[in-house]
Amino acid sequence: MPRTLSASDAIIDDTMKRLAILLAATIALATLLGCATHIASATDPAVIAVETWGGTRVNVGPTRKHDIKHITLHHGGVDFLRGADAPHYLRNLQMWSRNTRGWPDIPYHYLIDPDGKIYEGRDITLAGDTNTEYDPVGHALVVVLGDFDKIEPNTAQLDATVSVMAMLAKRFNVAPATIQSHRDYAKTSCPGKYLYPYIESGELARRVTAKIKA
Ligand SMILES: [Zn+2]
Repeated sequence: MPRTLSASDAIIDDTMKRLAILLAATIALATLLGCATHIASATDPAVIAVETWGGTRVNVGPTRKHDIKHITLHHGGVDFLRGADAPHYLRNLQMWSRNTRGWPDIPYHYLIDPDGKIYEGRDITLAGDTNTEYDPVGHALVVVLGDFDKIEPNTAQLDATVSVMAMLAKRFNVAPATIQSHRDYAKTSCPGKYLYPYIESGELARRVTAKIKA
């Protein structure tokens, strides 16, 4: 016996159809946006997302949007020793950036801890912030946590720096030879006397180039 459609069945049926159309449209839009923004390459390093370290994302609107033309190295400038709780530090840094500095978010795009773990900071599509006199618009800002005026960077941190910079250089078509550091743009000791030689000697650029080719 064919089932007789009641009025409420018809309404439910119609609602389900509308939901299915909405879902299909949402998937199509997400796919389009994915193509327009970024598709991760198989060689990209693991990046710990904002949600994973307990931060929140911010939508600051189109005024902060920028196109990446440079990759720029920083150091944290304060002690950050192995074993320190990076997610806790990042949550505090995000609060400080917003509440004390009035910035929309953490000033850097990628942050590297002493174990070489890479954390996502400010959305890469949004320009960063600085206490110094250069304009960070167009710069992908990578910071190695620690004070490299006091200590040498370790192997894990250097490897992670190369990996994240290779990912950025590929994605935004930035020539590795143009990678510089904060002190190349502004009056600051950043990224510290023990990290800067990797920029100055061209070693970081060479390693990024090799990583891209690998
Ligand atoms: Zn800096």
